[in-house]
Amino acid sequence: MSSRKRIVVKIGSSLLAHSSELTLRYAFMHGLLSDIARLKQDGYDVVLMSSGAVALGLNAIGKAPGEASLLDKQAAAACGQPLLLHAYRQVAQEFGFDIAQVLVTIGDMEERRRFINTKNTIERLFEQGVMPIVNENDTVTTEELRVGDNDRLAAKVAQMIQAEHLVLLTSIDGLYDRPPGEEGARFIETLHDVSDYLSAAAGTSALGSGGMLTKLQAANMAQHAGCNTLIGEGVIDRPILSLLSGERRHTLCVAHGTPASAWKLWLTNRLQVAGSLILNRAAAERLAVMEGAVSHADVVSIQGDFQKGDILHLYDEKGDEIARGLSNYSSDEVLLFARHPEETTAELLGYSAIPDVISAKNMVVLEESHLSWDAPEGDITRLAS
Ligand code: GLU
Repeated sequence: MSSRKRIVVKIGSSLLAHSSELTLRYAFMHGLLSDIARLKQDGYDVVLMSSGAVALGLNAIGKAPGEASLLDKQAAAACGQPLLLHAYRQVAQEFGFDIAQVLVTIGDMEERRRFINTKNTIERLFEQGVMPIVNENDTVTTEELRVGDNDRLAAKVAQMIQAEHLVLLTSIDGLYDRPPGEEGARFIETLHDVSDYLSAAAGTSALGSGGMLTKLQAANMAQHAGCNTLIGEGVIDRPILSLLSGERRHTLCVAHGTPASAWKLWLTNRLQVAGSLILNRAAAERLAVMEGAVSHADVVSIQGDFQKGDILHLYDEKGDEIARGLSNYSSDEVLLFARHPEETTAELLGYSAIPDVISAKNMVVLEESHLSWDAPEGDITRLAS
């Protein structure tokens, strides 16, 4: 990795598109890229995570934001993405640098090989001084198979490139301890534990898909990856620099000490649950004391149709999430094993096989400060005990 510092800047749709006409806010884009040009001169590699493709493409599809179906939005993204990138390119050239388009899907973040591929591409662009502009490839994603918000996607990219800062620019100046319209709402300047404010963060924005909740989830991922998150208003004049210098009020979510290895961060920071296991009490207690492997005899129930290599969320019998780990087997295989706890995987498969469902090296026990996911509901295969 080069010695340049790294920063990810995420822009919400409402900053890029006028809310009624759904046309580009050039003045904002100008201020934004002027700041980015400055950051590049000051030794930063910058990734811009830009929403706005759907909002800017809706006119071409003849739909208003509130009435667009998923298919309309997929088509709108196809129309809006070139509009957006064309504008970015023009403005960036005024400031003397080049941009590149990187469209990703959830699989590019959740599958290790694709994650590394995407990282390598971004590294190559950095080497060349070209700024990657990342967005989710909404045109080819369906409701179940999408990240859905660029806040968490931006946090994954921040983790991927080991960024120092993640800047989330939005239509409000930061986080409040309750809905900001309510009397007595208090502004939160610094945040160490995002779970303190999750309930205050409900609701999504009118044009984009994110809201304060996805921003806090993003900040939680980033803080474990050693990255500070700044949430602030996307003003026209110096939108990024005025936050970084502390001239303008914003919410800072502070990075935690030394981040875990890149492998463990990738294992822990998930955008989607592939499957989950509920473990018996003895296994849950064992893991609470020391990270270790999970064998099929530890499994009480299985949820989801997962494949070898998917990341599983592990719960205790009370429904609290305790760990995440990469599965050595598919859900069908784990089911077969777990129904025969007294036999080994090799005996059940008939060939020499990895003994554990999850190996110790592919397992992360969650810290208190990790936002855990709720235990899955419905279609759980509970094994006879
Ligand atoms: N990817 C969407 C777009 O470009 C936006 C997602 C979001 O609002 O976070 O319009």
